[in-house]
Amino acid sequence: MNSAAAVWGKVLSLLEEEMTSTTIKTWFHDVRAIALEESRFVLCSPDPLNRDVIRQRYLPAVQKALRELFSADFEVLVLGEEELSSYTGEETDNDFLPGTEEYTFERFVVGSSNKFAHAASQAVASKPAGYYNPLFIYGGSGLGKTHLLYAICNEIRRNTPDVKIFYTKGENMANELIEAMQNHLTPEFRAKYRQVDVLLVDDIQFIAGKVATQEEFFHTFDALHQANKQIVLTSDRPPREIATLEDRLRTRFEMGLLADIQPPDLETRIAIIKRKAQLLDFTVSDEICEYIANQLKSNVRQLEGAVKSMRAQCLLNGAQPSLATAQSAIRDIRNDSQPVPITVERIVNEVARTMNVTPEDIRSNKRSAPISQARQVAAYVVRNITGLPMKAIGEEFGTRDHS
Ligand code: ADP
Ligand code: MG
Repeated sequence: MNSAAAVWGKVLSLLEEEMTSTTIKTWFHDVRAIALEESRFVLCSPDPLNRDVIRQRYLPAVQKALRELFSADFEVLVLGEEELSSYTGEETDNDFLPGTEEYTFERFVVGSSNKFAHAASQAVASKPAGYYNPLFIYGGSGLGKTHLLYAICNEIRRNTPDVKIFYTKGENMANELIEAMQNHLTPEFRAKYRQVDVLLVDDIQFIAGKVATQEEFFHTFDALHQANKQIVLTSDRPPREIATLEDRLRTRFEMGLLADIQPPDLETRIAIIKRKAQLLDFTVSDEICEYIANQLKSNVRQLEGAVKSMRAQCLLNGAQPSLATAQSAIRDIRNDSQPVPITVERIVNEVARTMNVTPEDIRSNKRSAPISQARQVAAYVVRNITGLPMKAIGEEFGTRDHS
């Protein structure tokens, strides 16, 4: 039982004796154990809100569990993804995720639907801040925006390893700022974003409607732009269609180059399927490639998923790729793309996040105005979305009268 993950499993089962399974699910569901050292246990909690709550409320319980297991005292560290790399002693100043090395320009299949965005990305990678600044790439989900951002990072890193590249997601940036503001670390946040040479923000649409984040990003943008640093942004739609995006940000987003990615045409879809199969050492006939390409039209992620699913079936059953395996792969993908059901837990978490309270607060008896208000909003949304009877909702929030 000495691997960190195994220890974490034991800790969780001890925690179950102390708290409800909802509490554990809410706060610990995405926690991973990173390292078990001499007298230190290191965890990673990717979500900043969860991380805060664990740090503030649950560390003693974790320490107690460790004491029970080892009869010794441990210091418990809870890190975010972005702190992990510094912990393990690798490059520090980057959110850049491991496992993204394979997203290169070489592996990006170019067709008429994406050749403009691809060429613009290559230009930016070959000479940051030399051509278009910012480069704003937009298009629907699963069409290759993130792939292009990673490809830019990888290419720049390969050509000029000294350049400071910072990749982040709009949502993470917003969360990080909230956390910084709560902990009076806004200057640190600012410094971190302004010392980079290339800033890439994926899914920037998430900052729309968030006043403080937009304000902060506006100043960061200007500081970097004036210092001739490259900025690359992606979004699921063009700036003018992002509702509640401040005007001054919209004009800035539009002042470089706007490049859209459209869903791939049949020919490109076939080429992508072939390429994905080839990368997996998996041979699929032209006929089957074409069949899949005709069935899945709007999303490259799905094409990739179909190839992987077919390959898995063939490996498991020793079958050859056939129309039948293709059909069943396509069926899997289609079922997969059904929206995730919205649970009470998700609603409570979202409302808590949006209204700056904790899910625990919402479920508590606390009567302070912000918490009561959040509780009412949560109950209202739960009622409207799930159609649960009021009594059940009251129970969910601690058996109270919700008239
Ligand atoms: P988005 O960020 O636009 O939602 P992603 O970049 O995450 O989409 O792409 C989804 C998946 O499809 C990724 O695995 C990516 O490698 C693949 N993909 C998208 N477009 C292409 C392309 N033109 N060539 C090869 N793979 C692609
Ligand atoms: Mg993406």
